[in-house]
Amino acid sequence: MEDFLNRIPFCFRIFEEGENAGLNLNELKEYLQEKTTIPVYLEGKIYQKLSLEKIDLVARKLAQLRIKDPHKGSLFKSVLEGEVTYEKERLRDPNWKPYGMLYEGVLYQQLLEDFILRGLFDAKECLILITNQLIGTWDPKDWRYHIRTSLYGFPHIISIPGLVMAPARPREFYLKRQMGIPLEILKKEYHGRFLDHDDARTTEVLKGYAMQAFFYQLTDDPFCQNQDCRLFNSHWQEEMIRAQLDGSYEFCPTHEEVLNRIRNRVQSISS
Ligand SMILES: [Zn+2]
Repeated sequence: MEDFLNRIPFCFRIFEEGENAGLNLNELKEYLQEKTTIPVYLEGKIYQKLSLEKIDLVARKLAQLRIKDPHKGSLFKSVLEGEVTYEKERLRDPNWKPYGMLYEGVLYQQLLEDFILRGLFDAKECLILITNQLIGTWDPKDWRYHIRTSLYGFPHIISIPGLVMAPARPREFYLKRQMGIPLEILKKEYHGRFLDHDDARTTEVLKGYAMQAFFYQLTDDPFCQNQDCRLFNSHWQEEMIRAQLDGSYEFCPTHEEVLNRIRNRVQSISS
């Protein structure tokens, strides 16, 4: 456990993918700086510096990472030219809006490392991509892909629509939906109990996921068992709301202590 002091990243670098209107990344930056005392850089859109040649290559690779059937483990080898064209347009347009496409998350991460980040950034930097795309990972337990809020590694990926769609809403919500009660009525009835698209609370929730990325970097373990700690691994929307917004504290005493020691270490190095 003591090892974490040797794994403190030099800095955070926050990248964005596509349009994420309503997010306040300056607020995220200030938050991370305050919690860790490590410098945070907002790097802008991740594809902005890709050469035209590389855009072609990355677009073709991205088209291969689309999950067309969540129940099928293998991805389609062949891609349609239209899909490649779509990806090219998406890469060229920094404000691209998402269209509900789901991508293979682990390979997505690998692609970003191989074609965009490697050689430019150090593994001792905490690189976080905030994306407006959906990422999924295969679950061998029930033989299907699941949408993910985040995937930690190099880079760490946090999916904004994933925060809305990955943790489940209350069970009764789905039952009532099946009974044919319109979505808009249910959204009113369950107001506040789950995160919605363009929700004003998204930046606040995002802070906790960025801290999970940070803890992954330190210890390989981003999660905590304590339901009030921002590092809790929420499977339900109500768990996420509690851990990120309504908990009795931000971090449990154990993780608060880790943060204390990190701040002390960073101060002692920089002074
Ligand atoms: Zn904790």
